[in-house]
Amino acid sequence: MKKTLYLKFLLAYIIFGLFGFVAVATFSSSLTLEHETRETAETLYEEASLISKTYASDLYNNQITIENAYSQLNALATYLSASIWIVNPSGTVVLNSVEMPDISNPKVIENFDPSITADSYYIRDDFFGEFDEEMLSVYTPITSNYKIKGYVVIHQPMSELRKRSDDYLSITYITLVVLIFLSLIILLFFTEIFYIPLKKIIHATEQYAAGNMHYEFSIDSNDEMGYLAATLNYMASEIARSEDNQKKFVANVSHDFRSPLTSIRGYLEAMIDGTIPPEMHEKYLNIVLNETDRLTKLTNSLLTLNNLNTKGMVLELSDFDINQVIRNTVATFEGTCEQKSISISLILTGEVMMVHADMTRIQQVLYNLLDNAIKFSHNNSTITIETREKHNKLFVSVKDTGIGIPKDSLKMIFDRFYKTDLSRGKDKKGTGLGLSITKEIIHSHGENINVISTEGVGSEFIFTLAEAETDED
Ligand code: ADP
Repeated sequence: MKKTLYLKFLLAYIIFGLFGFVAVATFSSSLTLEHETRETAETLYEEASLISKTYASDLYNNQITIENAYSQLNALATYLSASIWIVNPSGTVVLNSVEMPDISNPKVIENFDPSITADSYYIRDDFFGEFDEEMLSVYTPITSNYKIKGYVVIHQPMSELRKRSDDYLSITYITLVVLIFLSLIILLFFTEIFYIPLKKIIHATEQYAAGNMHYEFSIDSNDEMGYLAATLNYMASEIARSEDNQKKFVANVSHDFRSPLTSIRGYLEAMIDGTIPPEMHEKYLNIVLNETDRLTKLTNSLLTLNNLNTKGMVLELSDFDINQVIRNTVATFEGTCEQKSISISLILTGEVMMVHADMTRIQQVLYNLLDNAIKFSHNNSTITIETREKHNKLFVSVKDTGIGIPKDSLKMIFDRFYKTDLSRGKDKKGTGLGLSITKEIIHSHGENINVISTEGVGSEFIFTLAEAETDED
């Protein structure tokens, strides 16, 4: 059988209970008897001292008769549940509270030795063989004229004392039972606070281990258990989300690779089997070349994205002139702009504007934004690139007056492989990865990128950069 935490706790509880009883039965029992003996001995000693000073000395001084003393001591002995003896130093019992005195044939205690008590005022034994059971015997000397005349000895059976101490002990047992029942509350708390949530967590982890990452559970408590459950839930949902993303990503990649490959294969087959006549080969080979370009672009973008996603991506930060980078990027698009009669207007802050960033990657950001702006602009339009300085940040905006982005798509354009329906006709080569790469780059710099766009009016992408720190001596 599986040794559950619960069983272990229950076992600990039972052991605690048993040890409690054993402790009471041994320690407490002997301590109580010890205490009871001492208390009784003290009381009896006080009585004995009193008797030795009153009746006993009176008896020795012949101030009362032996019958009188007997009746007095008998009453006192009944009251104390004890027997009171008056003994001569030689061991002759002068008076016994239990029997009428027989003066002619007095009882003699053999080997009577009052020094037997040593430095204690009581002894626990059969009193020189006079009793069949163990007795508590307390002594006090009777003195007259500085001489010991005799002793007052009070006996009480130890069985009597044991009975009393057992009575006290039964109170302790009852208290213990009550305590053990009360400590059941701890067991209940353990079950409620610890065991049930733990079982839920174990069940959930089993589900996750079996691959059911969508399994949800909750523990309604604000303590560490609740926090653990919430963290586990969150972990599972994150894994599930990244698994879903992974699946979507693979599906998208496969799809984007398959379509150019299918068309390349189709054209090549048609050329080989003669469906496309040799004089048309050049035209179709150019299409094939275009498709291979698209595949290369897709592969490169995927590699870039993969590198950017790797945690701890190293940025090669340096101070550089963003104005120069913008001008260079614009220059690479001159040919394309001419074809579409698009003009690019630059509104740049300062002649030189130094920023602190990874130049190659920012160049790629500008390239992606400008590439999109040109792709989605109408012929004979203007694209504006503007920089503005605010609070040690440089805001770079790339604005076009093209097809714009539908409101519903705005949230998604930075997602991998996302393309708006509007753009599909205009841009057949697009991979839908450009903006997600752009966003990753900007975010890895600790900066932000935003878009403002109206369908049919145009779009503006704005991102921030950190200005280079100037040493002003
Ligand atoms: P792609 O490489 O296909 O352009 P992006 O990630 O760069 O992919 O862009 C994603 C989608 O966002 C584009 O397919 C297009 O639908 C939309 N988009 C991006 N920039 C613009 C823009 N300037 N004007 C209109 N739509 C845009």
